Amino acid sequence: MTSKVLLKKLITTPERKNVALVAHDNMKPELIEWAEKHKEKLIKHNLLATGTTGNLMQKQLNVPVQSLISGPLGGDQQLGGLIAEGKIDVLIFFWDPFEPMPHDPDIKALLRVAAVWNIPIACSVSSANFLVSSPLFDSEFERKIPDYEQYLKERL
Ligand code: PGA
Repeated sequence: MTSKVLLKKLITTPERKNVALVAHDNMKPELIEWAEKHKEKLIKHNLLATGTTGNLMQKQLNVPVQSLISGPLGGDQQLGGLIAEGKIDVLIFFWDPFEPMPHDPDIKALLRVAAVWNIPIACSVSSANFLVSSPLFDSEFERKIPDYEQYLKERL
């Protein structure tokens, strides 16, 4: 299935969203500070995070966060899998623009799959601010996603 024949369908993202958070080590203080500021908005959603980010958030903010595998150990891939399964609605990903990462292919894959499934992504504090201050953050919204079932129907 290539992008040339990629069919799309409209789905509704619910009011209460599955929000995934990831921060590389040098970016963790920024994410914690940002999440602290927006705690009231964030706790209205289901929060998930890669291992260390999630545990840190839970400890520092005292909010429930489902912690996945740590990023360098496969957590980014786990998150990518959840996005492809339609189980993540928003991705806040503070990746480090100054440090090369051993799991760079996983990071690329996560960002790619998030684009494929057209979920809102924020990779910096200001884009994350835009995201949480959007009325869509707290309400249902429609987005287009790949329609693989239709593709199969037409092709096979
Ligand atoms: P971590 O993973 O939350 O387990 O540190 C983040 C990452 O490196 O992708």
